[in-house]
Amino acid sequence: MKILVSGAAGFLGSHLCERLVAQGHSVIGLDNFITGRTENLSSFKSRPNFSFIEHDICKPLPFSQPLDRVYHLASPASPIDYIDLPFETMYVNADGTRNMLEIAKHCNARFFLASTSEVYGDPHVHPQVESYWGNVNPIGPRSVYDEGKRYAEALTMAYHRYRNVAVRIVRIFNTYGPRMRANDGRVVPTFINQALNQKPLTIFGDGLQTRSFCYVSDLISGFIALMESSITGPCNIGNPQERTMLDLAEAINKYTKNEVPHAFKPLPKDDPTRRKPNISLAQKELGWEPQVSFEDGIQRTIAWFRNNPDDSSI
Ligand code: NAD
Repeated sequence: MKILVSGAAGFLGSHLCERLVAQGHSVIGLDNFITGRTENLSSFKSRPNFSFIEHDICKPLPFSQPLDRVYHLASPASPIDYIDLPFETMYVNADGTRNMLEIAKHCNARFFLASTSEVYGDPHVHPQVESYWGNVNPIGPRSVYDEGKRYAEALTMAYHRYRNVAVRIVRIFNTYGPRMRANDGRVVPTFINQALNQKPLTIFGDGLQTRSFCYVSDLISGFIALMESSITGPCNIGNPQERTMLDLAEAINKYTKNEVPHAFKPLPKDDPTRRKPNISLAQKELGWEPQVSFEDGIQRTIAWFRNNPDDSSI
């Protein structure tokens, strides 16, 4: 198939392109490098079935080639990034999503939106099921991202209902793995880099808040299964194994042999206390569930950061 991927130079976009290229598809990556990196493309950028266009997708991109699939992943994704880039985050989820949907409509391609578990906000329903509408603060510091993604979902459904575009929407829960930026503020790379540098791990609040961490290769398998399925509404993809921040910190200290005591800091505003996907829909309709254990995934990620040190993170 001929496949367009926005956000190709990012953490998830680069893993998706790598997988699609390896499967023999003809892949075109789009990115403006606002949070992505050229080195993320290095393992596949010279493959004959990959090409790349540097472009800000907030601007329309006239696209006349035939296309089968459009994966739309472009958006700042970590809290540090979207709080630093509030307008870019809102505009890429609004104008960028519209431009990617227009390409899909024009080319009669199937469209895939990378949405997020953040649409559930600080959830009152646990674990989160797709039918839950969420508890989002529309004016809080995280709202540029949460509401941006909620708008992107609404726009995607409007193109489906009124403009006949075939759409898929994935709600991604916390994912980790190689190619995350050490300083992107997400908890896994932050802890790993603190630990590799024998520093205290920074725990917000009492560390009993939970997240569920999915290894990146599992997530990418879920993306492709969802794209090739017939599910139009949102579908959670994530690992339902819930873990406290203290558990995570202890595992990372164990595998890096860091013995420095943790540093505790106040909980940031609107930081959700619990996050765990209900993945029954993906299990039933896609036959998908995570395969990589936390112990395996975290050790692979630590090994990658060890081989790709980044001094800016500490
Ligand atoms: P990332 O920041 O590593 O990648 C995003 C990519 O989009 C970057 O390469 C960036 O340069 C590009 N981009 C941003 N604005 C753009 C624009 N206007 N034009 C062109 N390119 C642009 O983030 P990620 O973790 O790979 O996330 C990818 C997608 O998945 C995002 O939409 C994010 O909201 C979603 N998501 C990720 C997670 C996760 O755990 N990683 C969780 C939930 C949702």
